Amino acid sequence: MNMNPDEAKDAHNQVPSDLQRNVFITSLDYMYNLIRKTSVWPLMFGLACCAIEMICTAAGRYDMARFGMEVMRPSPRQSDLMIVSGTVTKKMVPQIVRIYNQMAEPRYVIAMGACATGGGPFKEGYNVVSGIDRFLPVDVYVPGCPPTPEALLHGVLKLREKIARQSIKQVPWYQKGVQDAIPQPVLGPDIFDPRRVPEIRQRTLQPAASEGEEEAETA
Ligand code: SF4
Repeated sequence: MNMNPDEAKDAHNQVPSDLQRNVFITSLDYMYNLIRKTSVWPLMFGLACCAIEMICTAAGRYDMARFGMEVMRPSPRQSDLMIVSGTVTKKMVPQIVRIYNQMAEPRYVIAMGACATGGGPFKEGYNVVSGIDRFLPVDVYVPGCPPTPEALLHGVLKLREKIARQSIKQVPWYQKGVQDAIPQPVLGPDIFDPRRVPEIRQRTLQPAASEGEEEAETA
């Protein structure tokens, strides 16, 4: 029987009947992201009242185990998600940045609550930072004072969506060149030594800018 070229190509691409129930064709990105997004391990780390809601989210009523997240790790080396839950004081920022730098790539940050996202009710306080995104790249912001466990779970779902959109070819941790650690703020006479603030700001905005370009390219 003579087949035209299209029919011949289709016939060539068909999965044999004895394999049809066993062969699953997908992209490398899908598998890579599926594995990572369904086993995010948060760092056991809280700063203020929002941490109580985070603890509640991990308890039986909300059950983070269904997201593969029930293991909150006490070590940054074994974690890939930092949930900044609570008021970020200037005194704590160097420690938060140091812990973030100790996490291996890929790593993500959720800013949980009004305080972590923008200073919250203490924004004008002399000792409070107006959002952790001034020092770390934040992936998801969860609003509220405090956000409910449901809100945090919504933030987790948003993070999973973000992970699912990443491409193994573009993720920063597989690019050539050594990635420097985020510069650690230094406590100075006026709470902070401001000399590296522009550099820190540039580093924290970098991932958001490159992601915007990525989305523009795919649009
Ligand atoms: S956002 Fe509200 S609940 Fe959360 S740490 Fe700040 S003051 Fe506390």
